[in-house]
Amino acid sequence: MGIAQRYLRLRAELDEECRACGRDPREVLLLPVSKTVGVPEVRQAMEAGAFDFGENRPDCIVEKGEALPQVRWHFIGNVQSRRIRDIVSHACLVHSLYEEKHLAKVDAVAAELGKVQDVLLEVNVSGEESKSGLSPQDVADVLAFCGGLAQVRVRGLMTMAPQGDAETARETFAGLSALRDRLQREVASEFPNCQLNELSMGMSEDWREAVPFGATIVRIGRAVFDDSFEHDDLEAAGRASA
Ligand SMILES: *Cc1c(COP(=O)(O)O)cnc(C)c1O
Repeated sequence: MGIAQRYLRLRAELDEECRACGRDPREVLLLPVSKTVGVPEVRQAMEAGAFDFGENRPDCIVEKGEALPQVRWHFIGNVQSRRIRDIVSHACLVHSLYEEKHLAKVDAVAAELGKVQDVLLEVNVSGEESKSGLSPQDVADVLAFCGGLAQVRVRGLMTMAPQGDAETARETFAGLSALRDRLQREVASEFPNCQLNELSMGMSEDWREAVPFGATIVRIGRAVFDDSFEHDDLEAAGRASA
């Protein structure tokens, strides 16, 4: 099966999953993560209707952004200060910000470029050592910090679930959703530039767990671009029967 067909099949499955939990499929963006492929593969997914793509390395968002300026590029990777100009120059949404010094630099660069940068705050809901992002209890302070940045707009929160276990994934996604609801009431209402409508959560192996908890962006790499990613992988991860 080619990339276009894989994208379309996944979109149909996502629509079905939305309807199964009473959600409008139009609320959920299927974001193909093109970090392992090149421009020709991105074009194939575009032919199937994809218009937004995720990249996790500054070099790649610059290179592919220049080749395909019509795409809405999302930056989902590790942010380093010296690459913020490249990221802000090409990204419509940065999913992976959590340090105040980086947010301040995004604000300054966006001002120079004459844009307002949409961002998500990354939250380490599961508390795994290896994961980056804010502890849930620290998000309110960073949101308040962002409230003072004129060129940054916080659109929501992002998280990654620990690998391999559907129940832990559900707990992670439920946690992010509850945190968003609380912050929306307590903090975001004070800051017009912090409206937390977006929840970026769910990847190839666990997007089905994320949809019932309100995911609005699912970030899908292998299930779109990797021909060898099939149900075997879900079974290996203990997910197929979930
Ligand atoms: C690579 C990546 C994804 C996509 O992962 P798959 O398991 O291939 O779907 C999603 N989010 C982030 C932050 C990534 O780096």
